[in-house]
Amino acid sequence: LPATTSAASTASHFPNTHDKVLDPIDTKNFIDNEFTNSAAIEWFEVHDPATNNIVTRVPQTTGDELRAAVVSAETAFPAWRATSIIARQQIMFKFVHLIRVHWDRLAASITLEQGKTFKDAKGDVLRGLQVAETACGITTQLTGELLEVAKDMETRSYREPLGVVAAICPFNFPAMIPLWCIPLAIVTGNCIVLKPSERDPGAALILAELLQEAGLPKGVLNIVHGSRDTVNFLLDEPCIKAISFVGSNNAGEYIYSRGSANGKRVQANLGAKNHAVVLPDADTDHTLNAIVGAAFGAAGQRCMALSVLVMVGESKKWLPDLVERAKQLVVNGGFEKDCDVGPVVSPSSKERIESVIKSAGEQGASILLDGRGYRVPKYPNGNFVGPTVITNVTTNMRCYKEEIFGPVLVCVSVPTLDEAVRLVNRNEYGNGVAVFTRSGPAASYFQKNIEAGQVGINVPIPVPLPMFSFSGNKKSIAGGGANTFYGKPGLNFYTQTKTVTSLWRSENTGTGKQVVMPSH
Ligand code: NAD
Repeated sequence: LPATTSAASTASHFPNTHDKVLDPIDTKNFIDNEFTNSAAIEWFEVHDPATNNIVTRVPQTTGDELRAAVVSAETAFPAWRATSIIARQQIMFKFVHLIRVHWDRLAASITLEQGKTFKDAKGDVLRGLQVAETACGITTQLTGELLEVAKDMETRSYREPLGVVAAICPFNFPAMIPLWCIPLAIVTGNCIVLKPSERDPGAALILAELLQEAGLPKGVLNIVHGSRDTVNFLLDEPCIKAISFVGSNNAGEYIYSRGSANGKRVQANLGAKNHAVVLPDADTDHTLNAIVGAAFGAAGQRCMALSVLVMVGESKKWLPDLVERAKQLVVNGGFEKDCDVGPVVSPSSKERIESVIKSAGEQGASILLDGRGYRVPKYPNGNFVGPTVITNVTTNMRCYKEEIFGPVLVCVSVPTLDEAVRLVNRNEYGNGVAVFTRSGPAASYFQKNIEAGQVGINVPIPVPLPMFSFSGNKKSIAGGGANTFYGKPGLNFYTQTKTVTSLWRSENTGTGKQVVMPSH
């Protein structure tokens, strides 16, 4: 294996193909600006989802190492907070430049560990990079407010960093989600301890290496690994002031409760079941292509994947055409140039997805296109599930109720737009939704009445750009959506407002003792 300066992870010397079987190098912690081997006893194996060859082993970072990461962040905080905003901004400029230089390397690490296609992995990096680029312009947004409230008296508000914050990330966007957190947290003057998903930590470690190269002082970013034990440590550690979490409801609801009970700010984006509502007046070609892309792209493992198709009235006639388009997608290893749909992340994910498809058949739905048992000749050991379309679905079926997180589209029919809106709103999730129509009034009615964080009008995956915020509704976001990622709410999340009222008398006009609240 080539020597690597950082030895951050196997991602430092990615093969950019599934063919080469590398001797795996254990994934390292990044603590106090150094990539260090863990003394862990427990390790998680990461396998290439296309081949199931082992890529790396990820440590359950030990208690001592976790404490060292927090001490490093806590120690770095006073100097980092005192570092001028312009100096912090310069590091961000260098960081975004380096992300562009290392874009392919980041994407290759994602394809190798997570499975998505190389092109899609580049998009994963881009959507995070955009947040980092926007964070470079934070200088104008960080200003407080000032008002001369009376003669010689003024009130000023400041945005101050919180101190040490933590982030807990999911497997499905190994670059984007760390980049939803790191840039805003650090440019506002915080120090951060980040735990990537134990299933694909490579991209986060490359980002750490790039920040090191950009001149980030030691301790401002620390990366630790593991699963539940690491999360519990971060939730209970008193010096951590805020937790950013993105992932499933199972983990996220627990993390929100325990973190909040410990007095921390918590932002937690959770699971989804996103509906695409199609009206019969929609542009057929655009709509079907958009739905096929959003249902099966990234093998359905996006929190904004369109996983339920709601066909209003006559639009159900388009179903055979939709199935034909889904059949044309190429399922292959993510590094293959023709690949549209890569493998799902693990054999257990494949098994779970296939069991949901099976349950649909057993519960009386019709499986129009069945991706179970999908074989890709070049990758006989991969976790492939082919695009799957299930129709005659009712809302009490498991395939409708559960987040499948695989390339499976379930289809329901309703007679009217009104009924479609009621159906979507009855679903317990409210992450994203899309409507396809040529009618302005119909789109406007939909937009006003639908309960979802992100609404697309003829846009299948309406992930907001970083000048807005990624929100959610209902069960898709913890805490009623009060804390959301990036944009102005993201800036609020990572800063504490301090309001100072001062009196500098210009003349000596003693007012005597005041023992009551001033009144007019
Ligand atoms: P996950 O909840 O299994 O894991 C997320 C993180 O939580 C990981 O770092 C993991 O180590 C940790 N974790 C898992 N189980 C835990 C437990 N019991 N206790 C403490 N920590 C635990 O999620 P995932 O499978 O990695 O990601 C997919 C999920 O994330 C999907 O539900 C998807 O919808 C959701 N997601 C949501 C958004 C959004 O913005 N709403 C974005 C991306 C992904």
